[in-house]
Amino acid sequence: MGIASINPANGEVIKTFTPLTEREITNKLALAQKAFEQYKNIPISQRAEWMNEAAQILKSKSRQFGKLITLEMGKTFVSAAGEVEKCALNCRFYAERAAEFLRDVSVSTDAGRSFIRFQPLGAVLAVMPWNFPFWQVFRFAAPTLMAGNVVLLKHASNVPQCALAIEEIFQQAGFPEGVFQTLLIGSDGVAGIIKDERVKAATLTGSESAGASLASIAGKNIKKTVLELGGSDPFIVLESADLESAVSTAVTARMSNNGQSCIAAKRLIVVEAIADEFEQCLVRKFEALKVGDPMHPETDLGPLATSDILQTLDHQVQTCIQKGAKVLTGGQPLSDCPGNFYPPTILTDIPPGTPADNEEFFGPVALLYRVKDIDEAISLANRTPFGLGASAWTKDAVEIERLVQELEAGAVFINGMVRSDPRLPFGGVKHSGYGRELGIQGIHEFVNIKTVWVK
Ligand code: NAP
Repeated sequence: MGIASINPANGEVIKTFTPLTEREITNKLALAQKAFEQYKNIPISQRAEWMNEAAQILKSKSRQFGKLITLEMGKTFVSAAGEVEKCALNCRFYAERAAEFLRDVSVSTDAGRSFIRFQPLGAVLAVMPWNFPFWQVFRFAAPTLMAGNVVLLKHASNVPQCALAIEEIFQQAGFPEGVFQTLLIGSDGVAGIIKDERVKAATLTGSESAGASLASIAGKNIKKTVLELGGSDPFIVLESADLESAVSTAVTARMSNNGQSCIAAKRLIVVEAIADEFEQCLVRKFEALKVGDPMHPETDLGPLATSDILQTLDHQVQTCIQKGAKVLTGGQPLSDCPGNFYPPTILTDIPPGTPADNEEFFGPVALLYRVKDIDEAISLANRTPFGLGASAWTKDAVEIERLVQELEAGAVFINGMVRSDPRLPFGGVKHSGYGRELGIQGIHEFVNIKTVWVK
């Protein structure tokens, strides 16, 4: 299916869309260019007013947008409405802080006066995924627009109505025409846009293969990119950890967004001394989760976003089982209902040589490992191509310092789950990508960091 809204809870095709024609794309690129020439000179206080208005719209319509998210990609309505509210917070954060983040920075040198100025680049292409269809866009767009750039959004093909709703929010908030545009195109239309000279930079949140493809085309055309890619985050539990809190958080960290989060705790790594107790408690909590209609307020776990994701996940699980992994709970798609439902699943005793070594499990499947001690825990945690987030649980100060220092990840959370926060930079190392979103670092990704030297 091309660009379409399909309800993942029952497979119903709700609406299909025709991709933009070449001419329509050209017109939008021309409009973006024209809009930038004006928008770059708009005072930051005016941009902040519009950004605060966008926050207001998001807040006042969080239920309406939440329903749209649930309808298109299947996360629970409660979490979808929460996602919209978090976008409002992010808009407010950058509306309040952008002027400070973009202020000239004085540096003393041999010049009479030398400083750094931050200036916008122009049109930035954002290729975004469906899993947080509002949050992924707003966490990039709020700082990028505040910096004076204009945005072209190519959203995932299964969330077109979210993509159009976001464009409308920015328009209603007062941003001039052409400052934020949604392009309804398939992934085959991305290369041509990156190559266009009116597009100055690009960001992609999504899979490794999509990121590599975008970055190689951008590289050939000498354009800046940011990549936010997949993860296989470790969740390490050491002997002194508060076990009750660690298990509850592991469940939330693995299951949020129906298991489809880049920073989900995908590999649970527990030391032998507490592994039996951790495992029993984890199984109990997984089995208590309510799977079903994502609109229902008591549902913990809705469907996976597409049937392809379900098939990929099932294939990964079956391969692990065939190679000797043990299933503690779940392990088969729920075939007695029409949607893309997969039950909470725990695999353990996973031998080397399975997809668990180097693939991301994008669904409600926990990979549970037992290790002897912290050395083995850190070594296993780092034995992955990814390096997005890591969560570790201990009360020991020496262990905390080792985990902070030695884990290969863009973020380390001690005694808490990995999550994004507008105040803190977010991004990965290794195959999880490069560059940062959020915080002051996020607003500095798509600017010309201009050195000024005056005698
Ligand atoms: P995906 O297939 O890579 O799709 C993401 C976006 O890239 C979509 O808009 C998609 O368009 C487009 N795309 C796909 N192939 C492309 C190509 N060759 N060239 C240009 N664009 C292309 O990713 P997904 O599997 O839907 O999304 C989940 C992935 O995103 C997971 O790996 C997850 O970990 C990652 N993710 C990372 C972060 C982070 O911050 N690090 C956050 C959220 C998600 P179409 O839909 O039209 O194919």
